[in-house]
Amino acid sequence: MVSEARYAGALRLDGKRALITGATKGIGADIARAFASAGATLVLSGRDDAELNTARATLADEFGVEIRTAAVDLAADDGPAALASTALDAFGGLDVLVNNAGVSYPQPVTQTDPAQFDATIAVNLRAPALLASIVGAAMAEAGTGGSIITVASAAALAPLPDHYAYCASKAGLVMATKVLARELGPHGIRANSVCPTVVLTEMGQRVWGEEAKAAPMLARIPLGRFAVPHEVSDAVVWLASDLASMVNGVDIPVDGGYTMG
Ligand code: NAP
Repeated sequence: MVSEARYAGALRLDGKRALITGATKGIGADIARAFASAGATLVLSGRDDAELNTARATLADEFGVEIRTAAVDLAADDGPAALASTALDAFGGLDVLVNNAGVSYPQPVTQTDPAQFDATIAVNLRAPALLASIVGAAMAEAGTGGSIITVASAAALAPLPDHYAYCASKAGLVMATKVLARELGPHGIRANSVCPTVVLTEMGQRVWGEEAKAAPMLARIPLGRFAVPHEVSDAVVWLASDLASMVNGVDIPVDGGYTMG
């Protein structure tokens, strides 16, 4: 849980307009909370209007920041463009995009379900890449710079059994983010990824909740534990802030040392 005082010092996002995808639960909900705590103006996205309205009311009440919501299915062909348009209209532009929404359908590589493979690529790679393209173009046009942050995964950096499409989608997204960093850097737009290890959100519980799955994974993490949501949010807030003004094109593991080699 992030308290209001947490970002009371230099790490503030006042005046920054941010779109956060997958903001209704898990890591995205904590990022939304952290951004609200740091004073950002927010557009929260997910698929469920009721969940979005609850998140908006709670955070606006607690932190006094302006918040709009946009319910969009990012797996739909026109989802990314529809969300970009709504979010850019909400406050007359965006300064920060947090591409966080994601899905995972673990299965052995030899039993790959084509529909689930496509759904993984659609939500984890196509949607964030297209969103960043449209939002990046608007940021460049506005000429005021910006920060695009990708919530990728340690699965982008080290292969995980049963995560064929997931690893491919996240590795693709890390590289796509570097292309953004290279092409949009001259416009003062920074693009970076964070690569968390397991976080026991709804997704994390579903995939890693059983002791038999968790134990061998924990054994490979030098810090000996999974991450908690605010450890991801803290990196994302920093990347969005002016304290990271010279940080561009990196993928930051938030993984207790799991991927260091
Ligand atoms: P989560 O608890 O399952 O939440 C996923 C979020 O993404 C929800 O808000 C969900 O909205 C949204 N979403 C899913 N499919 C969508 C779609 N088709 N259109 C729009 N929104 C959609 O997952 P999480 O663990 O917080 O994961 C957040 C991000 O971190 C993901 O990109 C994930 O790959 C990454 N990550 C997670 C872990 C982990 O262990 N948990 C580790 C590394 C990286 P709804 O409310 O509509 O479902």
